[in-house]
Amino acid sequence: MIPRLEQSNMMNALMTKSWRIGTFAGIPVKIHWSFLLMFVGAWVLSYLGSGDWKIALWYSLLIIAIFTCVVLHEYGHALTARKYGVETRDIILSPIGGIARLESLPEKPIQEFFVAIAGPLVNVGICFVLVPYLLYFAWDEVMDIWRLISTGRYSLEPSGMNAYFFPIIFWLNISLAAFNLLPAFPMDGGRILRSLLSLKIGRLRATQIAAYIGQGLAICLIIWGLYEEGGFMTSVIGVFVFIMASQEYRMVRFESILAKHTGRDVLRPQFTRILPEDQISRATNLKKIGVERNFLVFDELDGEVIGVLHEPTLLEVMKKEEFNNLAKDYMSPLFENILVTENLKDIFNKMQSNGYSILPVFDEGQLIGIVDTTTINEFVSLQNSLKK
Ligand SMILES: [Zn+2]
Repeated sequence: MIPRLEQSNMMNALMTKSWRIGTFAGIPVKIHWSFLLMFVGAWVLSYLGSGDWKIALWYSLLIIAIFTCVVLHEYGHALTARKYGVETRDIILSPIGGIARLESLPEKPIQEFFVAIAGPLVNVGICFVLVPYLLYFAWDEVMDIWRLISTGRYSLEPSGMNAYFFPIIFWLNISLAAFNLLPAFPMDGGRILRSLLSLKIGRLRATQIAAYIGQGLAICLIIWGLYEEGGFMTSVIGVFVFIMASQEYRMVRFESILAKHTGRDVLRPQFTRILPEDQISRATNLKKIGVERNFLVFDELDGEVIGVLHEPTLLEVMKKEEFNNLAKDYMSPLFENILVTENLKDIFNKMQSNGYSILPVFDEGQLIGIVDTTTINEFVSLQNSLKK
């Protein structure tokens, strides 16, 4: 799965705790606590159930093999993205599947196509590697599992579990490829569909159509999940897919508006200069009356911008009523500025990836105003309503 960075940040916040289990090819691999729980749970249950540590070991190895296949799938995305100069922040094994958090998504349709399809291709590749072995040694077991999947009324022979190991891995990879190829965001199939449509009808329209198809599919998943016994998780995934589809379209429309403008269009020439020795109440009082929400802090002597007061920090100050403290105690450092001629989309990306809510704008070396995320959001919604 390749969610947008903003979405994956949000998902990550929801998922709270994940641990780094290692770094491969320069990309940290993290695991959500629920997976560890599942791992320990499978071990304990299989040991308690059988009293045989070998069976418990078998289950543990199976789970490790499943993890590995999911991680390899995500590396398929990450390493293909690297070919196009896009780095991956991390790979997370989450309860809703593997997630590769790409720093950005390649916008050239053909690049997005290859990045998206690389994941499922890894699983197909694993299947191809397994096939010769399975044909010789375990084809009956492969068919047993197929009977179990297709009828749901077939049980595997417990005494011969060892023989089912690779057949299970085989079917797992087929289902990983198939599930991810569903044409809905943020699944790979959604991105593949969008990239192919983009070649013909442009990215915005392509996203809209791909989002509609994804939402239709999501509704099917929800209904099917409610109807099917034990299909609760399917419905949850359906809801998730539905929300993600509309978010994807909204973000792409947002970006397409940004791309047509520059810093000049959202520039605010009037703004308050906060000094490090000012009481923080100077900023919170201005925030209360509304227009300014984020502030730049200036050096008293040379007048250079040295830091930022972000809105969430000011909210904390207001909650704790720490109005007499000094601005410098709440300031975060600032290492970025923008030119008035810069494309608005680049400006927005700069702000997103570094977590800035306000930036100083320069024209020929002179500070001429500020841009903040609130202004950008309002500008875009104004453009939207003017179009309607
Ligand atoms: Zn994927």
